[in-house]
Amino acid sequence: MESSNKNPFYSRTDTDKVVRTDEEWKQVLSPEVYHIARQKGTERPWTSQFEKNKEVGTYYCAACGNPLFKSDTKFESGCGWPSFYAPISKGSVIYTPDHTHGMNRTEVQCGRCKAHLGHVFEDGPPPTHLRYCINGVVLDFEKAQAAEKNYEESNNS
Ligand SMILES: [Zn+2]
Repeated sequence: MESSNKNPFYSRTDTDKVVRTDEEWKQVLSPEVYHIARQKGTERPWTSQFEKNKEVGTYYCAACGNPLFKSDTKFESGCGWPSFYAPISKGSVIYTPDHTHGMNRTEVQCGRCKAHLGHVFEDGPPPTHLRYCINGVVLDFEKAQAAEKNYEESNNS
C-alpha cells in the first residue's frame, strides 16, 4: 500500500521483531494508524472499509507488514469491526489481559511490532469459537491477485 512506502519498519517478508519508540512510530505512521496501533485507540464501529470486505486475500499489520489474517477466516460478526476466527499462525498475534474500562478482555497485538489490533472474544464460530474483533485502520489488505493470475495462466495454456 502506498501509505506504507514512507515506513522503513514495514516489511511483508522480514520476520524480525520490530521494537521502536512511540516517537519513532509517530514519524512513520499516519495519525489514524498511530492512534490505534500505539495508543490502543478504537475506530468507530461500521467505519472500516474492511468490515464488509469479501475479497480473497491476506490482511497485514498496517504498522509493520506482518501477515495477520486470511480472508477465509473472516466472518460477518455484526459487531461493526472486521472479525476473524483465527490468525494466520500462532505467532502472528500475541495476547495480553486487558482490564481497562472495567471489563475483562483479551487484547490482541501484532506478534511482530506489538501494535494494538483489537480484542479477542470467545463467542466466534467454529472451529475455534473465537472472534478476533480487529480495527480495520491497522490492517493492510492485499488481494490474492498473484494466485488468481497464475490460475488463469495455467488454464489458458
Ligand atoms: Zn505489526
